[in-house]
Amino acid sequence: MPGWPLAFGPVYSRRLGWSLGVNPVPPKACTWRCVYCYLGCVEPVAVRRVWVETGRVVEAVVEAASRARRVDYATLIGVGEPTLAANIGEIVEALKGLGFRVAVFSNGSLYSRGVAFEVAEADYVKATVTTWDEETWRMLHRPAAPGSLEEHLEGVYAAGREARSGVHVEVMLVKGVNDSPFDAEMLGDMLRGVRLAAVYVNAPTSPPCEPWVEPPPPETLARFASILSSKLPGVPVEPIAYRPRRPPQLDPRNPLQSLAEIVSTHILTREEALEALRGVGVEDPEGVLREALGEGLLREEVIHGKAYIVAGGKSLEASG
Ligand code: SF4
Repeated sequence: MPGWPLAFGPVYSRRLGWSLGVNPVPPKACTWRCVYCYLGCVEPVAVRRVWVETGRVVEAVVEAASRARRVDYATLIGVGEPTLAANIGEIVEALKGLGFRVAVFSNGSLYSRGVAFEVAEADYVKATVTTWDEETWRMLHRPAAPGSLEEHLEGVYAAGREARSGVHVEVMLVKGVNDSPFDAEMLGDMLRGVRLAAVYVNAPTSPPCEPWVEPPPPETLARFASILSSKLPGVPVEPIAYRPRRPPQLDPRNPLQSLAEIVSTHILTREEALEALRGVGVEDPEGVLREALGEGLLREEVIHGKAYIVAGGKSLEASG
């Protein structure tokens, strides 16, 4: 087996409902090194390869789905950039063949290089578009690929053309960097002509790679979304950063193991982690969490006054 969970969750997604995460690439393999990355600072790579063969990925998804209460989507998300898996098209096809609705949560950086076509059969295809300005784009994402904002935009156009219902665009706003009304106007103009399924205005509410990064307040997101909406008639535009989330579904047979797998890819607040443990009948979730923190299986980080549970350095297998 690879040294990371190939499937995790399901976790509740504000866009997809109950989303079973699928990891076809190793942790932190990404084409970008975003200043707001919730995984910490990753080292960007641009070379695609088959990290895990399709059959093994599909097997892990089927196994995880069999113990879940509900799965709305199998979501290729990775702990990084899922399209770095050269077999992503094959994985989408295999999961569709088994009756899963499939989402591809990509930053869109490789769509211009044929990947938009490879993932076209997915039910939900996502790309990240944060700014109209090349310099800001480089500063925010520090990309290994693609070579320019123009090439990135070509990929977003391609995804819009190829995906069944158009491309879902996520706009991640960083306070004081790309969140002004002027930025919204310019971004709206840039996205005109893309076949858009929807636009989501988001903000980094999890601990970021660079400590100076802050999320804009909800009113800034609402104003940004309203300007975008006026520029993109007929396209749903939603601010999503501050919508309440539900805690993930844990494996009742081994709640701590599944919690550790989830937080290695999907950050949770302390309250969400406790609620998830309660959800599978753990009687003393505070005590269980305290023990896992004490043993180094999980770690707690306090960012902007809020406590988060993240992956600890020690593996569960090693804990005896
Ligand atoms: S936020 Fe997403 S796209 Fe950006 S570096 Fe992290 S994993 Fe990659």
